[in-house]
Amino acid sequence: MTESGELVCNINKCRRPLTSRAWVTSCLHAFCEEDGGKYVHQTPVKCPACDTTLNDSLDVIQIEVNPSERFKSMVLAGLKPDVICDVAGRALAFWMYQMSEDRAYLAAAVSRGRRRFDDLERYYEKNVRQLQTQITSMKTHLDKELASSARQLEEARHELEASQRQAEELSGRLAQRNKQYQQLQRDYDALRVRTAGTAPRVSPAHSPARSVSATWHPPVGHLQPSPVPRRVSHVSQFVFKPVTPQPVTPNKR
Ligand SMILES: [Zn+2]
Ligand SMILES: [Zn+2]
Repeated sequence: MTESGELVCNINKCRRPLTSRAWVTSCLHAFCEEDGGKYVHQTPVKCPACDTTLNDSLDVIQIEVNPSERFKSMVLAGLKPDVICDVAGRALAFWMYQMSEDRAYLAAAVSRGRRRFDDLERYYEKNVRQLQTQITSMKTHLDKELASSARQLEEARHELEASQRQAEELSGRLAQRNKQYQQLQRDYDALRVRTAGTAPRVSPAHSPARSVSATWHPPVGHLQPSPVPRRVSHVSQFVFKPVTPQPVTPNKR
């Protein structure tokens, strides 16, 4: 039944509103002109809604849903009031049956919709639970990866700090070695100067202070090599040997 009060075709796949000509049966069913027309010419005629056999010529008739005023005036004319009331009562019973069928149809549709909704709800709840499980698993995995990366980073930081400390320690030792070397160089220079001060004076060309190696070379321009001064030879034979640290005497130059 439509919202505006029309009956609808009782074929569930059709259910079009009956607004003009329609077929009605003694088993209280109604059909649109098209669907009813398919069945009334079969032998035997059977109601397509309830499969009742409709043998009598008045078991299925075609009606005008909105009859003319003349039809309304004449259809019950001449009948006794009790017959008129009986006819009207049967027509109302037909209407009430159609209303109850319509209500049952709607209730079944609502029930089907509710079951469909419940199925969809369960389906999506299951999917949501699976997604939540996957998200939790991924989060746990990512947390582990993050913790592992943090540990590796911390270890690398410790190694870097250890390397820095080692480099600083080596740098300090190098600076200490440089100081020792410079001190040694000063001691050696002082010793060399003292040694030169106690040696006999020789010509500048033969001075052992001209070079640290103190290697003697003959004077340039002499055809004959001059004899090596015997007192200077001890400088050329000087070999530096590490000495035990002694107080440094000031440089007297
Ligand atoms: Zn129909
Ligand atoms: Zn029927």
